[in-house]
Amino acid sequence: MISCNRINEKDASSFLSQKPLLFFKRAARRWMTSFRNVLFPSRCLVCGIFYDAGADGDDTDFIDWMTEEDLIKAPFEQVMMRLLSRCTCPACTKGFVPILSPLCPVCGVMFTGRQGTDHLCPKCDAELRAFGKARAVGVYEEGMMTVVHRLKYKSKIQLAHPFGMLMFILFCRIWSEDPVDIVIPVPLHRRRLKSRGFNQAYLLVKDWPRYSLISNKPEFEFRISGDILIRTRWERPQTGLNRKERMAAIQGAFAVKKPFLAAGKRILLVDDVHTTGATAEACAEALTKAGALKVDVLTLARTL
Ligand SMILES: [Zn+2]
Ligand SMILES: [Zn+2]
Repeated sequence: MISCNRINEKDASSFLSQKPLLFFKRAARRWMTSFRNVLFPSRCLVCGIFYDAGADGDDTDFIDWMTEEDLIKAPFEQVMMRLLSRCTCPACTKGFVPILSPLCPVCGVMFTGRQGTDHLCPKCDAELRAFGKARAVGVYEEGMMTVVHRLKYKSKIQLAHPFGMLMFILFCRIWSEDPVDIVIPVPLHRRRLKSRGFNQAYLLVKDWPRYSLISNKPEFEFRISGDILIRTRWERPQTGLNRKERMAAIQGAFAVKKPFLAAGKRILLVDDVHTTGATAEACAEALTKAGALKVDVLTLARTL
């Protein structure tokens, strides 16, 4: 378990006193980055081509410019494009489509008609979902499909850094007024974990406690837990199955190993992709049965 502790008052005052130093540090780093870009252009994390990312092209800098404006107020599509242009070439950056309103407030599906306000989709209107609300960073097509595929099947784990940060920004925006206690990456079966060597959902959230500490957002404590929920069944990949088939295939595939840790808790499930929502619902059902107060879902990508 990873605890995320807030900065105490003493730390906060020492942090403020370091601001001028931080300013010069950032200015020096920007100058160094510009100089370095002339000699060594940035390499697109998605397609691998070299491109000029300008003075901003340094993915280790992301955390530095996450002001309150970036985290909470600026339009999400702007922040997303600004962040991605630091690590993906202009052609790849164009391939990412953010999930924006109007969308379904429960399952988070974005309506292709771009007029009007959020409203329930026919599926959520017709049946109760096991989770409270689900949201995603981008549409699961072109750019996001390539990212998820390279992350999961080509072990390009460096992609988890910028895309995990985008998820953290969305997390701050959507859950700041709706706190969660525990963030649970959707678990893989131990056989799949062994063969892949990592859980992509965990990689996407592992830096969140650090981002939270540095930005002081969101204004509540949360911890990441990888030992409450387990995947008990090994199923074949669910690609090509419809929602009903997926629901049947995944029924009972998750179990809560330590129910006392889930009881009375507000939980956020994190995964790479939301397609039919069958995985999220199976996890949410298991956690609710164990006494969780609510289970929400955040994914990197979502189908339309
Ligand atoms: Zn590219
Ligand atoms: Zn819906």
